[in-house]
This record gives sequence, C-alpha cells and structure tokens, in this order.
Amino acid sequence: MRVGIGYDSHRFAEGRKLILGGVEIAHPHGLAGHSDADVVAHALIDAVLGAAGLGDIGSLFPSSDPQWHNASSIELLRQAYLQVVEERLHLVNADITVVAEQPPIALYVEDMREKLAAALVAAPSQVSVKGKTNDRMGFIGRGEGIAAIAVALLE
Ligand SMILES: [Zn+2]
Repeated sequence: MRVGIGYDSHRFAEGRKLILGGVEIAHPHGLAGHSDADVVAHALIDAVLGAAGLGDIGSLFPSSDPQWHNASSIELLRQAYLQVVEERLHLVNADITVVAEQPPIALYVEDMREKLAAALVAAPSQVSVKGKTNDRMGFIGRGEGIAAIAVALLE
C-alpha cells in the first residue's frame, strides 16, 4: 500500500469557466491557469503521482509545453494514472477537500466523483469529494481563489 498527498490552489480570473473535478460549475468567474485550472483534478494528480513516487504534475505536464495550454485536467489525470498503472499500482481510494468561500459545491459533488473516478478506472464510491469554506479567513476567505487537498491510497 502506498499513500500520497496533493495540494493545489488557483486565483479567480474574469472570463474563465469554473471547472472543478471535471464539472463546469455555475459561477460568475473561473480560475486562472495554463490548463483549465481544475484545482481538484490537479491536487488529485499530485496525490496519485506522489503515492507512486512518480514526481508531480509540473514534471509530467510542464506549463512551458504549449500542448497543455487549455488542456482538460481530467484528461491529464487519466494520463497520469496510466503511468501509475504501468508501475503495477491501482487506486484503492482517494479523498479530496475543496476549500472555497464561494461557490458552494455540494450540488456538484456526485458529478465530480463520477468524472474523477472514470479517469482513474475506479468507481465513484472510491473517490470522496468534500467542500469546506475557510471561515472567511485569508486569501480563500476573501474570495481570491480556491484550493484543494487530496490524498490517494494505491495498492
Ligand atoms: Zn493547478
């Protein structure tokens, strides 16, 4: 058994769609980033790569490489997991906390679990997604951006 942790954060930006866990969320603005800036998928990528000892999202998909511009992060997760499988490891479960003052994500959690699990060739029951606010403290509390923390267990 191998465990890994991932963390990511992105700032809000005008004129962007908000994509979290592969799901488009109804919100006036999205997150800035080279890809679709899906913090949930990015944190999970780092968790599975970390558990497998395969580096991190930046080493697999460098932002200097134009092929990842506006990339779907669910597709990046799928590609990262293929490398995990090559190491003869597979997902036991993952747990993700999304830290955002706005918007509330409860309505989207089941869709996110389905999208993330599909990229990991797993069942939604193996991928937990939870939302938290930051109690109005700090950059998240001021609504400047969203963060996500993920852990993944591989076998
Ligand atoms: Zn990111």
